[in-house]
Amino acid sequence: MKGVSILGSTGSIGVSTLDVIARHPDRYRIVALTANRQVDRLLEQCRRYRPKLAVLKDEQSAQQLRQQIEAEGLDVTVQAGQEGLNQAATHPEAPIVMAAIVGAAGLLPTLAAVKSTKQVLLANKEPLVMAGDIIMQNAKQAGAVLLPIDSEHNAIYQCLPDRFEVVGQGPLNPGLAALGVKRILLTGSGGPFRTHDPQALANVTPAQACKHPNWSMGPKISVDSATMMNKGLELIEACRLFACSPEKIDIVVHPQSVIHSMVEYVDGSVLAQLGNPDMRTPIAHALAWPKRMVSGVSSLDIFKVARLDFEPPDSKRFPCLLLARQSATVGGTSPTILNAANEEAVAAFLSGVLAFDKIPAIIGQTLKGMASIAAESLEVVLEADYQARQLARDIIGSAVIEIANRHQS
Ligand code: NAD
Ligand code: MG
Repeated sequence: MKGVSILGSTGSIGVSTLDVIARHPDRYRIVALTANRQVDRLLEQCRRYRPKLAVLKDEQSAQQLRQQIEAEGLDVTVQAGQEGLNQAATHPEAPIVMAAIVGAAGLLPTLAAVKSTKQVLLANKEPLVMAGDIIMQNAKQAGAVLLPIDSEHNAIYQCLPDRFEVVGQGPLNPGLAALGVKRILLTGSGGPFRTHDPQALANVTPAQACKHPNWSMGPKISVDSATMMNKGLELIEACRLFACSPEKIDIVVHPQSVIHSMVEYVDGSVLAQLGNPDMRTPIAHALAWPKRMVSGVSSLDIFKVARLDFEPPDSKRFPCLLLARQSATVGGTSPTILNAANEEAVAAFLSGVLAFDKIPAIIGQTLKGMASIAAESLEVVLEADYQARQLARDIIGSAVIEIANRHQS
């Protein structure tokens, strides 16, 4: 019986993880669950999965949950804030930690899990983008096992030889080139606006942007998919996880989302991982690793799929792709700045103050306004994240005022 902590249990990945775990009550036990402010959903999960620890972001929400837990006589400790998240990430009874918080908020708990030598199931891609080297170094030092949950990275991992390990290069794991890998083909659906009139992108609503053609996901990653920044973040994520340079990775638009990514070898072989677009497959893969187990995902009906299409990405329509590739090449704190500006721009779009087509400009201007420096410590990364958010908010503020003035005149 293995204990599991789920950071971000009320989100899309968190709920899928609980679904997979519920199919294997003889193998996994839920030790800790955490959420932002969703008291009711977390209470529901506490009733069903009986964790030892439940964590909410602020003390007020935690107090509400605590009262309910006590009233129902459940044996669950309720904590709040960073300290609570830290306890969930490092809980001695949970060797497996699912990192499924959205955004930079997941950085510290993910790092804490890595440092305490957990098997870390990494869905939360933003920490890898903003502080990839630091996470990888700490994982190596602590001997933590990192397993990618992002469907593309999980697919790439499955297409690499068994002896490849995400962390640590040595005689057994000599790196991609020595394993005969020529390049990685990172696939993406192209999102809901792949064929949308570019002129009309100014007027798309958050609801339209969040309606992904193939995947059901949280709002932030759905908007990232619509701008294709998700693929840009994934490019950086792949560079970190597989220790390769951005030139080794080609982005391929594949609207059906059946192939989840491919690896090309020097002999001309191209290995792909296929399956229905359902995150329970990578989640089950990483939970059971190195074995396999049932995930609840239905068989791929290859006859129904019938055809697979591929297109090069359109970086004119989706400038975020170029911004992310440039950032990956520059390195240092550039991806930290990119990620922070993107989170701010997406939040402004979701709250209705920023037009969809302004998101790339906000990120581009933030990157121009800040110099990239070596991301040599967590303090440097957190400072770059803070400064980039301040700058991005200023730029968003000016953009919003300019549009308001234009409407008035
Ligand atoms: P979501 O918005 O559905 O869920 C996010 C979870 O994090 C929720 O439990 C929420 O309560 C919690 N949370 C949010 N802000 C928080 C904060 N400030 N502090 C503490 N907890 C907080 O998001 P999701 O779609 O499940 O995505 C989670 C992560 O996984 C993201 O980084 C995303 O990029 C990545 N991912 C998701 C999918 C997917 O299919 N949903 C696929 C690949 C990668
Ligand atoms: Mg993905």
